[in-house]
Amino acid sequence: MTAIPDFSAVQAMDEADVLRAYRDRFVLPDGLIYLNGNSLGVAPKAAFTHLETAVTQEWGQDLIRSWNIAGWFDLPVTLGDRIGRLIGAAPGQTVVCDTTSINIYKALHAALALRPDRSVIVAEGDSFPTDIYVAEGVLSTRPGLSLRLEGVDAPSIQDLIDDKVAVILVNQVNYKSGELRDMAALTRKAHQHGALVVWDLCHTAGAMPVDLDGANVDLAVGCTYKYLNGGPGAPAFIYAATRHLGAINQPLSGWWGHARPFAFEKHYAAGGGIRRFLCGTQPILSMRALKGALDVWDDVDLVALRKKSLGLTDLFIALVEEKCAGHGLELETPRDHALRGSQVSFRHPHAYEIMQAAIARGVIGDFRAPSTIRFGFTPLYIGYADVWKAADILSDILATGAWKDARFAVRAAVT
Ligand SMILES: *Cc1c(COP(=O)(O)O)cnc(C)c1O
Repeated sequence: MTAIPDFSAVQAMDEADVLRAYRDRFVLPDGLIYLNGNSLGVAPKAAFTHLETAVTQEWGQDLIRSWNIAGWFDLPVTLGDRIGRLIGAAPGQTVVCDTTSINIYKALHAALALRPDRSVIVAEGDSFPTDIYVAEGVLSTRPGLSLRLEGVDAPSIQDLIDDKVAVILVNQVNYKSGELRDMAALTRKAHQHGALVVWDLCHTAGAMPVDLDGANVDLAVGCTYKYLNGGPGAPAFIYAATRHLGAINQPLSGWWGHARPFAFEKHYAAGGGIRRFLCGTQPILSMRALKGALDVWDDVDLVALRKKSLGLTDLFIALVEEKCAGHGLELETPRDHALRGSQVSFRHPHAYEIMQAAIARGVIGDFRAPSTIRFGFTPLYIGYADVWKAADILSDILATGAWKDARFAVRAAVT
């Protein structure tokens, strides 16, 4: 292994960091090293100012007029196009709405309707559970369909794809291990068999460049409260490729997806374009916070972002493996850059207690059952010195056995 840098070397890396200035655009609480932006991103200062305007002026004073004059009605599509730039989607294909779970439901039904003669959904056995739960919900509404799971029905998702498959639901980065999939290759393989693909971008939107159009993706979903920093419960997004937009339909046919919502017609007629993925009135205050959060992203160089993300995760892996050697941590995240998202996970039999002890020392990551500690690295506001300090604190907790304190074994509802 190459020698690990000392603290002055990592400070120099921060000084040379081209993304360094973005840190000032976030509210970073004193004394915290926040390595959980893969679960809830820190607050962008602009989100607060946007919220303040939205509350005091738009809601407080302009009231109903704000649907038009403040652009509330168009927020799902205007914000969708801004996210589009970050995920390689040309305008008109991305809309912000609802939650990722709900958007998966819409996307799976939409894909199944485009492949009416096929009966199989493929997903990952170790997917973020909501993806599977929603697929099971879709199955319950359509007798005759079946679900094939990677790791259950075959070791690799590639082996589950044949001419019976209507749609494959797949995560670009696995939430637990941080493993990154080859989007273009899997999409190509699906298309060779006439299947469609729904990509879940929860752990890649805002974490690295994504190229939906370039990879010829059919549908995608993702959330905005992780790497995009939209705030707790911020609305999600859904993407559908232009080539599908004429024929695609989703079952939650509410008035916001209607071609003429304010004509108040008696029957549903799907709107043109991506708006047809809307159902009902959206959480405008959350959207206004997200609008502020996206201001930070408009000029971010995503290639530099990815480069720094890999620099941060490489450094963390090297430091932990050196400083925590002999304490039973087992790296779960791939070392190969081509297979790594923007997080680092380790397995340990006492993962929960170790993470609680780290949080008590101001290093915030999280625990994922049964035995994973997970650290997210968000290049816009995390620096190399943060990584160095976090690894140092983790090694101290392991070396001293501080995690054995009984209070760290008490399980909270959210882990
Ligand atoms: C975070 C996450 C979700 C969250 O779904 P919600 O409906 O917003 O609760 C879904 N899928 C994956 C892969 C996630 O990481």
